[in-house]
Amino acid sequence: MTKRDDERLERIRSELAALVVEGSLPGSLVVRSLRCGRRNCACHQDPTQLHGPYVQWSYSYRGKRVARWLNAEQTERLRDQVERGRQIKELTAELDAAEIRRIERAEGWGA
Ligand SMILES: [Zn+2]
Repeated sequence: MTKRDDERLERIRSELAALVVEGSLPGSLVVRSLRCGRRNCACHQDPTQLHGPYVQWSYSYRGKRVARWLNAEQTERLRDQVERGRQIKELTAELDAAEIRRIERAEGWGA
């Protein structure tokens, strides 16, 4: 294990720990504009007259896709948690790569 690999692993671990402590949510926020159910509403004629934009939080749980509409207050409150969840996913992939390199070297299996 090189010193650079060591420092990298240490950085990933502490960044992950900080994100987990702050609190996170899986999934993503999507902004959507919609057509309503009233056939004579302007939204059916003119794409600039769509309703919204509305914010939707969606995530997968036990193999099922779940989507929830958020009001402005919820959006404000959940936005940072979802962002931290995204960063955790990214860092976890980096962690896997770094840990694989570490163990492959340590056990004398690979490069
Ligand atoms: Zn409408």
